[in-house]
Amino acid sequence: MEVNGYRSDGVGAAVAMVNAWTGADGSAPDLESARDVLRAFSFLVEDLDQEALEPLLEWAGELRAFFVITDLEEAVEHVNGLLARVEVRPRLVDHGYGLHLHHAPSGVPFVQRMRINTAMGLANLVADYGVGRSGVCAAAGCDRAFADTSRNGRKRYCSDACANRANVAAHRARRRAAAPSAGRP
Ligand SMILES: [Zn+2]
Ligand SMILES: [Zn+2]
Repeated sequence: MEVNGYRSDGVGAAVAMVNAWTGADGSAPDLESARDVLRAFSFLVEDLDQEALEPLLEWAGELRAFFVITDLEEAVEHVNGLLARVEVRPRLVDHGYGLHLHHAPSGVPFVQRMRINTAMGLANLVADYGVGRSGVCAAAGCDRAFADTSRNGRKRYCSDACANRANVAAHRARRRAAAPSAGRP
């Protein structure tokens, strides 16, 4: 939201929070790891303090619930529920990054800014693409979330590693199906 336009950053941060802190691979953040996760999306992580960790973790759970949804109506309802919990007050600012739009009222705590930016990011994602560009990795045994804002937007896996693993597994399954007697005495 800061430098590159709020959309990709809010969505990117939502995915990063979900994957770092929730799901099978996730673990509750400490202050330093939480800052590392969010710094990559141009948030002013120096404002993040110890008290914010619990509410951020709770919010990450709400965000994961969004990525699991495959039904548009349900997604709209969930995102509207997130938006109802934030106070958005857009204004133009320039604090060294060039003129850009902030959505949070000035001076609100960091956790509130994160809620606003992730909720607005997901709201724009759904407005533009419905539920077709977000989800949970299709690879067996992986529950990492993804969002795809690329031109074609056909992503189904959280990473190239998962996509490759799934392709290899599918290839093996096809070979087994094509040669049903292979390996039998
Ligand atoms: Zn800014
Ligand atoms: Zn995956």
